[in-house]
Amino acid sequence: MSSSEAETAELFRETSEKAISYLKGLKKRHVAPTEEGLRGMEKLPQSLPDHPTPPQQVLDLLDTYGSPATVASNGGRYFGFVIGSALPAALAANWLAGAWNQNGAKQIMSPIAARLEATSLRWIRELVGLPSEADGAFVSGDTMANFSGLAAARHAVLTRAGWDAEKDGLFGAPTINVVLGEEAHVSVGKALTLLGLGRERIIRVPTDDQGRMAADRLPSSLKGPTILCTQAGNVNTGSFDPFPELVDWARNNGAWVHVDGAFGLWAAASPLLKKLTRGMSGADSWATDGHKWLNVPYDSGVVFVREPSNLVAAMGSPAAAYLNFDSSSDRFDFAPEMSRRARGADAWAALLSLGKSGLIDLVERSCRHAQRFAELLREGGCTILNEVVLNQALVSFGDDRRTRDVVKAIQKEGTCWCGETSWKGRVAMRISVSSGKTTEEDVNRAATAILKIARDM
Ligand SMILES: *Cc1c(COP(=O)(O)O)cnc(C)c1O
Repeated sequence: MSSSEAETAELFRETSEKAISYLKGLKKRHVAPTEEGLRGMEKLPQSLPDHPTPPQQVLDLLDTYGSPATVASNGGRYFGFVIGSALPAALAANWLAGAWNQNGAKQIMSPIAARLEATSLRWIRELVGLPSEADGAFVSGDTMANFSGLAAARHAVLTRAGWDAEKDGLFGAPTINVVLGEEAHVSVGKALTLLGLGRERIIRVPTDDQGRMAADRLPSSLKGPTILCTQAGNVNTGSFDPFPELVDWARNNGAWVHVDGAFGLWAAASPLLKKLTRGMSGADSWATDGHKWLNVPYDSGVVFVREPSNLVAAMGSPAAAYLNFDSSSDRFDFAPEMSRRARGADAWAALLSLGKSGLIDLVERSCRHAQRFAELLREGGCTILNEVVLNQALVSFGDDRRTRDVVKAIQKEGTCWCGETSWKGRVAMRISVSSGKTTEEDVNRAATAILKIARDM
């Protein structure tokens, strides 16, 4: 080994030691970074030096001043937003795939990336019970998965109306009715913006007390191309839209049904929770995340389309001679990106390391933890604002001001981290249990800290 090879090997060994000790430290540290941890970032170079810095020194800086300024969301006591931790096998696969540094765009660029993507997609499709003809791709996250599914929808409904959107754009195209629930996730609005469908010129359907679309409030006589956006897993309550009624309505109106199932899609893998997703597989496209409940490292999202030709039509690019190596395993024409990291590798490792039983356990355990949070906090005098049907709980500590103050104090105290939201006009604290690392002890510890803070306030 030449000296520089030896140095590189040493760099990787030391980096893996740093990573291991970071991961170990997650158990003990404040969940939010401390003031001191944040101040450390000032020590990082501000202007780009004229000359090279040795790699070891670069990594030292990153670990010394970077690691303390992270949020410990890769541990067991982070309950903000909907953020999963990274399973050990998935993180390790991500490291190895980083060493491979494959471009997952085409099979000819990386046979293994293509294989792992195809296998992971099939496993996920089977786990959550989507139709066997459905296919798709890994994308950067659920926002892009929504975008991709809705791009396929746009293609399909306009083709039926005799318009070629990919060729002629939307200028002069037939109007598309876009129907979505009042509680649709903001990323759906963003996807509609990117697709030229507009996030304001939509038909909003009222929702019930849990945020489920009211099927009896769907518009009665819609004409022309129509897309219905539904949701599996409300970001606040965890509730599911009533798919059987929505899919019926769509069939009667010739509409395309898209499901935003960023985390809720995974409930379909559990025999216990599957009933929440009844009818979901009758849709035309589905979006979900790997980096949320599957506990795959960032970033990882998945889109599925029942008739994949609609996705290919929407995502296909004009021919270029140098890219002309078509293979049946290519997902080049399934995703908005061309170059892509080998996202299938870490998802494959997550799924294989869990097996079916492990995935079911991950999902069901998170829901039990959310139930326990609700019980403990209710016993402690807090109000739970939602029916805890999944992994989400909404908590009120009294009036809006008090709830807001308690949430801030919880974030600062550091035992756990929960975010703030507003639900049906009331300020609430959101608890989202999405990490396989969360133990019952973590829940007890977090609930005890939350109640103490609320009492002392
Ligand atoms: C998180 C989330 C999204 C956005 O997903 P990203 O992975 O952040 O792009 C969309 N919809 C729902 C319901 C979500 O929870």
